[in-house]
Amino acid sequence: MSPSLSPDRIRQARAFAAALTPGQRICITTHVNPDGDGLGSEAGLAHLLQAQGIHAVVTNPSPTPERYHFLFGGLPGVDRSHEAVKELRKADLILVLDISDVGRLGMLSQTVQDRGVPVACVDHHASAGHLPEGPRYVDPDASATGELIFQLALANDWPLTPVAARALYVAILTDTGAFRFSNTRPSVLRTAAALLETGLDPEQIYLDVYANAPEGRARLLAETLQTMVVEPDAGLAWVTVPPGALERLGATADDLDGIVEVPRTIAGVRMALLFREIAAGRVKVSLRSVGEVDVNAFAKPFGGGGHTKASGLSLEGSLAEVQSRVLGAAREYLSGNGSR
Ligand code: 5GP
Ligand code: MN
Repeated sequence: MSPSLSPDRIRQARAFAAALTPGQRICITTHVNPDGDGLGSEAGLAHLLQAQGIHAVVTNPSPTPERYHFLFGGLPGVDRSHEAVKELRKADLILVLDISDVGRLGMLSQTVQDRGVPVACVDHHASAGHLPEGPRYVDPDASATGELIFQLALANDWPLTPVAARALYVAILTDTGAFRFSNTRPSVLRTAAALLETGLDPEQIYLDVYANAPEGRARLLAETLQTMVVEPDAGLAWVTVPPGALERLGATADDLDGIVEVPRTIAGVRMALLFREIAAGRVKVSLRSVGEVDVNAFAKPFGGGGHTKASGLSLEGSLAEVQSRVLGAAREYLSGNGSR
């Protein structure tokens, strides 16, 4: 049984697809340090469009983590290079997935901002952002951008090939924490079922995404968890990536994925944080919440954003300075009702 779409959504999905036509040069892109949803959505959409005779090139501001390479076999694409900028300069339409803010496009931000072509967007983020004008297919209630790509296929009768379905399954699997988070609504499981029915092997997908890691990932997890601090009275727990650990362990930012979920598992914790120095004098903070606490609203005054229960921000300062500032604000935020 396929999930059903409201007449309104069907209309929006058809209007969006009508803007994508054969003969256009389309570039698909997603946020810096792309995750399974950004990449799965890109690969899924590129396959679906290819089957419609629409050629699209994936042009990303960051390299694709090793564990997602299997999604991109047979698809044209360029990562974080002068080539990516050159491709974007030739595009008639730019399709941005899994973000609504041009500022999250890293080295490609300026080109996308200045290109003067329509910038289409498919996204499920709660935080508003700025993008140049273009067609939109956006729903903050969607579990993943991959779920919205599935809806585009459903509403437009695009046949779902197994390779496209596998990419969309990865998108939904990773953004729902493997079907554990609050965004795992009944329609999400119906969507996952429809994807599996194309003949996918869920165990093989699990192995590819989660059980094909370099040794450094497990060691990074161990070293980072070793730093954990818990403040039961405040409902806070945080971890800090030891400076230099990624380089020393041959790990990448992708290997940090999921670590902040561990402090979040502690009874009584309402906000979990992970701090990481991303450059000299710049620190990134990943935020996760439990229950009613809204970490999207918490991140906003710091220039960050994301979703109600998963957000991020980055600030200028040393690790100690950023920790002191963000933890101070978090204690105050949680002593209120955990929303703004
Ligand atoms: P993560 O902490 O796993 O990198 O990201 C969690 C969520 O927050 C994702 O939805 C991501 O898009 C969003 N996010 C992470 N960092 C930032 C940031 O610096 N700015 C904004 N606006 N969103 C972010
Ligand atoms: Mn997403």
